[in-house]
Parts: sequence; C-alpha cells; structure tokens
Amino acid sequence: EQTRRKKPNWLRVKLPVGKEYAHVRKLVDEHKLHTICESGNCPNMGECWGAGTATFMILGNVCTRSCSFCAVATGRPPEYDEDEPRRVAEAIQLMQVKHAVITSVNRDELKDKGADIWYRTVAETKKSSPETTIETLIPDVKGNWEALYRMISAGQEVVSHNVETVERLYRRVRPQAKYNRSLEQIKLTKEFGKRTKTGIMLGLGEKQDEVHKAMDDLAAHGCDILTLGQYLQPTKMHIEVAEFIHPDQFDVYREEGLKRGLKYVESGPLVRSSYHAERHVNV
Ligand code: SF4
Ligand code: SF4
Repeated sequence: EQTRRKKPNWLRVKLPVGKEYAHVRKLVDEHKLHTICESGNCPNMGECWGAGTATFMILGNVCTRSCSFCAVATGRPPEYDEDEPRRVAEAIQLMQVKHAVITSVNRDELKDKGADIWYRTVAETKKSSPETTIETLIPDVKGNWEALYRMISAGQEVVSHNVETVERLYRRVRPQAKYNRSLEQIKLTKEFGKRTKTGIMLGLGEKQDEVHKAMDDLAAHGCDILTLGQYLQPTKMHIEVAEFIHPDQFDVYREEGLKRGLKYVESGPLVRSSYHAERHVNV
C-alpha cells in the first residue's frame, strides 16, 4: 500500500504579507466576498493579491464531472443563479482587482454549457471595471462550439482551458474529457482571435517525453501560454502524488516548452494556472 509522501521543503506555503495584500484582505472581509484563492487555501495569495490578481468561480460549486485530482463536489448542480454575473462584477469592483481570473465548474447538463452566464459575467465586469483585464479559464464544452464562441466573445484578454495532464493519463485523471477535444477547443479559440493558455499538473506519473509531446501538440494547436505546477493531493480520496518534481526540472521544462514553440511558460512547483496571470495579458 502506498504511504502518503512527505512534501519536500520547496512546497512550503509562502506567508501572505505586504501592504497591498492587507488592503485586499480588508476589502474581502468587509464585504464578505468569495474567491477561489481563499476557499482553495492557495499558497500564492500574498503574491497574487499583492499584484491585484484574484480568481472567482461561477456557475455554482457542484460539478457534473469527477476529475480525480479535484476537490470540487460532484453531483447534479442546482439551478444557476441569474444574479451571479452582477455579484461577481461587484466583487471585482469592490476588491479593486486589476486582473481577474474567472473560472467555473462543468455544467454538462445545461444546453448552452453555461455560456450565457459566462458571457454576462465578463460583460458586466468589463462594464463596471473597464480597466480590469480578464482571463477566463473555461471548461470543456464537449464540442459545442457555438457555446464556446459565446463564452469567449465578451472581451476577455486571455482564454485558458486546462489540458491538465498528458494524453495517456486522461482515463484516470479526467475521465469525462478527451485530450484531442481539448486541443481542438484551444485551436478554435486561437482561430477566433484570442490569446490562449493551458495548464498541466506534474507529478501524476507522466514521463518526460510525454510532457514534451504535450508541448508539441499545444504549440501545434495555437496555444500561447503554458503553466506547469506540482500536483498536490487535496484529500486521501483523490489520486495520489506519484512524484515530487524537483524545481530544477521545472526550469528544464520551461526551456523545453519555449524551444518547442510556446510563447510563454510559467513553470515551478507552486505554479497554479492563475499564478502570475497578470503577466500573461501582454504575451
Ligand atoms: Fe488566487 Fe490563483 Fe493566485 Fe492562487 S494562484 S492566489 S488561486 S489567483
Ligand atoms: Fe473539478 Fe473542473 Fe473536473 Fe469539475 S471539471 S471536477 S471543477 S477539474
């Protein structure tokens, strides 16, 4: 039986400090605002909030899928909240967010895959915070390209869609997704004229040549930005960590990704898909 591996010291959480962080912290507490940064207990909060970046989740907190790495509850989600676009836009305005990352659960049961709420959330945010740049980290739309185009046409600067892992591990890691369908979604997003981004978690048992192959595939499908971070098991019920990748190897992967045609690679043990997101707007 596998014992839980002890975390190496390069994964120690950084303490949130700094004046900007304290300012955002106060606004969040005062207005009882909700961010993924906090609910996910993200180790980068000090840095991200200090830089004016925060992540928000829309379309509820119950997901129709059951990815083996993810802590979000699986089930049949309740109806969605028509007022959510307004509330998220208001939170972004109150927090004085400079760069907002917006993400969602999968809503496979909805005909439009949640595209309307997506569109309205981005549009409302652009209206109330015109200076704020937006990255939308969108789900797999199961090949519903009409939904995709609605989701990505509200003026967001970056559209990301995470492939999460290498092709061989899809059945175990993203059972309801398809590697090639996610690549196709990225390609169509690029052709639509958006800046494209994806993320891969390392430490799930992938081999180096499989990571290189994923980089080649992504570059060939018009992906501009790649984030690489260490997978950490949220609870014992989730897929185990196969390996803790050394920080030096993350550096090697960054160079490799750039060589293989990606424009920007964010690579490090604590990198999350929204880490340093404000830097990706101008890639
Ligand atoms: Fe929030 Fe993402 Fe930064 Fe973590 S990496 S603090 S979730 S913006
Ligand atoms: Fe989690 Fe997204 Fe998978 Fe749903 S689709 S289980 S939110 S990773």
